[in-house]
Amino acid sequence: MQDHLKEDLEWLAANVDYVVPEYTSQECTVCDHVDPENRNGKTFKCTRCGHKEDADINAAKNIEKRFFDAELRDCHEVFLESQFAPTKGPGTAPAKGSPEPSGVTNNHEA
Ligand SMILES: [Zn+2]
Repeated sequence: MQDHLKEDLEWLAANVDYVVPEYTSQECTVCDHVDPENRNGKTFKCTRCGHKEDADINAAKNIEKRFFDAELRDCHEVFLESQFAPTKGPGTAPAKGSPEPSGVTNNHEA
């Protein structure tokens, strides 16, 4: 399970540019401070608590926090498979603006 989450995280990090809202990459995963100054190219450094990390990894963690808490945690894997499946390739980027899994169910159509 841990490995699977890590894979998700790495994939999200690689695709973070079209998956996430801009501010997600400006939010600190440690203290939740949001500031454009936090992001400096590929490096994230929190202006408040000093947390430092790869900017895309930091953003990916914020996506995990946002998307997969509460009820979404239960459909985490289904959500990834149906919306953000890495195997679909770069040609099938999810629609911008509404990354929420509307109508996500457990049905797996052939
Ligand atoms: Zn911070």
